[in-house]
Amino acid sequence: MGKIIYKTDEEVELMRLSSLLVGKTLAEVAKIIKPGVTSLELDKLAEEYIRDNGAIPGFKGLYDFPNTLCTSTNEAVVHGIPNNKPLVNGDIISVDCGVLMNDFYGDAAYTFQVGEVKPEIKKLLEVTQECLRRGIEQAVHGNRVGDIGYAIQQHAEENGYGVVRELVGHGLGRDLHEEPQVPNYGKRGQGVQLKEGMVIAIEPMINMGKRNVRQHDDGSTIITTDGLPSAHFEHDVAIKKGKAEVLSTHEYVEEVLKNKN
Ligand code: MG
Ligand code: MG
Repeated sequence: MGKIIYKTDEEVELMRLSSLLVGKTLAEVAKIIKPGVTSLELDKLAEEYIRDNGAIPGFKGLYDFPNTLCTSTNEAVVHGIPNNKPLVNGDIISVDCGVLMNDFYGDAAYTFQVGEVKPEIKKLLEVTQECLRRGIEQAVHGNRVGDIGYAIQQHAEENGYGVVRELVGHGLGRDLHEEPQVPNYGKRGQGVQLKEGMVIAIEPMINMGKRNVRQHDDGSTIITTDGLPSAHFEHDVAIKKGKAEVLSTHEYVEEVLKNKN
């Protein structure tokens, strides 16, 4: 376990730029998502866009991961490897993207609908997004990591969903994964205290069925044990007094999605 690395205001501004580029990259991906497209095509587009903007893909080569995006469809939770299989109407796909720019990482994820998705799956996506919002609300100076996890877990379980425990959010900075760990479950008032200068990635992974997951034979992808779908949304957040400051954004993505429909 390393120790928490606090960021100066200048460093937070650099991280905002990295996080913003992730948001814009996800929006580029959003533009081309439809039935028939492959996750490798999404990956190629994302890598080009990131490099064109003077950054490098944050995940590629890290922990031996081969690609720019983690693309996880349906029962895949996270860490999916882009492949040549065309997306199918009704799929959902979590696209997780990291960039490294000016020595700092940005890291954010969005779960997209492919074509027309069943209402119960739409609900899973909405609830997971709301989990993220509620987690962010708790990410303020003086609170504890457990307050974030508690807020996320409460909302997910109220809706009958399972909260993945094996994978968690994390501190973020010059390394993609820094202290502290930020679980999506927990108890109020417990865990590491949040302080100004911390930057964390909050990333609920919520399963439609049971919380249990396992690793796929590919050695990377995490999938639900019951085969039911899972959703994943992620933001980078700077801890401040009074109100969390979200450094990443889904606004560009949502702008694209609005104009698609
Ligand atoms: Mg991520
Ligand atoms: Mg992350």
